[in-house]
Amino acid sequence: MVPKAEDGCNQCGICVKKCPAEAISLNHVQEADEKKCISCMRCVVVCPAGARKINAAAAAAVAQKIEKACSVRKRNELYC
Ligand code: SF4
Ligand code: SF4
Repeated sequence: MVPKAEDGCNQCGICVKKCPAEAISLNHVQEADEKKCISCMRCVVVCPAGARKINAAAAAAVAQKIEKACSVRKRNELYC
């Protein structure tokens, strides 16, 4: 679940600045470092060009896997 830049990326560098794990390099914005990426999807949300995406097949597989667990709304719990 590591997003990549596809067509439409204009090399603006916003995803590089906003990635909390410093997983994207300004010299190579298309790929993220798989060892650093925490799959938070912030780069996808902040990309003004809508160019950052995850593999559709992988996303579908994850959605299918968590469908049951996410089918019922749960109350927030705070662990101290
Ligand atoms: S998903 Fe999160 S951690 Fe991974 S590259 Fe994007 S912003 Fe960085
Ligand atoms: S924020 Fe989007 S357009 Fe800008 S460098 Fe990252 S992927 Fe490319």
